[in-house]
Formats: sequence, C-alpha cells, structure tokens
Amino acid sequence: MKNFSRQRTLVLETLLKHRDHPTADDLYREVKEDLPQISLGTVYRNLKKLAENGVISRISVPDSPDRYDPHTGMHPHFICTGCGTVEDLPDDITVPEIRGDSGWFKGREIHGSVFQLYGLCRKCGK
Ligand SMILES: [Zn+2]
Ligand SMILES: [Zn+2]
Repeated sequence: MKNFSRQRTLVLETLLKHRDHPTADDLYREVKEDLPQISLGTVYRNLKKLAENGVISRISVPDSPDRYDPHTGMHPHFICTGCGTVEDLPDDITVPEIRGDSGWFKGREIHGSVFQLYGLCRKCGK
C-alpha cells in the first residue's frame, strides 16, 4: 500500500513537470527512470485514479491515446488530428463565455464547459 502511494506521487510529480499533455506511455518512460520496477499498467491505473479524483485531467484525442494534463482549471485546448499533439491556447486568445439566464438557459444551470479546437498543427499542416 505504501509502495502504491509512492508510485502515485511519482506519477503525479512527473506529470506536474509537463505542459505538453503527455500520454501514459510518455510518463511511463520517465517514471521508469526513477522507479525501474514500475509497469505501464501501474502508471495507467494511477493516472486513472488521479483523473477520477479530479487531481489531473484526462483529454480524449480522436485516434490517439488519451493525454494527461496537470492543469485542471478550465482552459481551451488545440488538438492536432494529424499527430495527436495537444496544446493549451495562449492566454491572449479568449474563449467566449456562453452564459445566460433567459431563453434556452432558463431553468438550466451551467457548471462549466469544454472548449476544444481540432485541426492540424504547424508540422502536420504543411
Ligand atoms: Zn500535428
Ligand atoms: Zn491543457
């Protein structure tokens, strides 16, 4: 059990160093350097648990493995459908907030939204 939480801490610490939304595979390769006996399945399990607990977020990418993000606050992503790269949008690009209390919004309570841009990154768009 002790070992288990140590693994989880290490997985989380490794992810916290990233701003590039790594896959479980990417994280596994890094975590393994500190903890050679860890398995890919363990890394997956810990990532799943951390995402379920809201400590990190999981991003689904079409035709590509899920990515993980230590940044759980609402922020928009750009997802390249060519290579599966996930980027945060720069802060100076603002996303319109969709809110209201009349019309369609009447009687509905909005707690959040997911905003994602899909397309091709600079490398894939060439
Ligand atoms: Zn790309
Ligand atoms: Zn992000």
